[in-house]
Amino acid sequence: MQTAKFTRKTEDFDCAFCGKHVKGNGYTNHCPECLSSLHVDVNPGDRAANCHGLMLADHLERKNGEMYIVHKCTKCGFTRRNKVCPDDNFKAILALSNGTIEEYRPKLLLKKTSK
Ligand SMILES: [Zn+2]
Ligand SMILES: [Zn+2]
Repeated sequence: MQTAKFTRKTEDFDCAFCGKHVKGNGYTNHCPECLSSLHVDVNPGDRAANCHGLMLADHLERKNGEMYIVHKCTKCGFTRRNKVCPDDNFKAILALSNGTIEEYRPKLLLKKTSK
């Protein structure tokens, strides 16, 4: 059976958290630098959510041998799993896995303002 649940998009976006310009590759919908995302989808890629809240990486989850970032919406509390991408900031992934992401995240903002 065909499913229209996943719509592949290749749009660029500016990260709502750190301001990084992210080149869309059709697979990632989060910023590879700070791992933040936006609550714009109900199902991946459909842009059907009207919350548009900032979704921050909350923790890591392992499922079927794959690593997922669990994003949590800062506005409505909605959570969603996203596969870790090879481009993702390894230090941020590490900070997520050892629970220091809250301390690490502000450093990403500092990096942006010093540019
Ligand atoms: Zn970012
Ligand atoms: Zn939301």
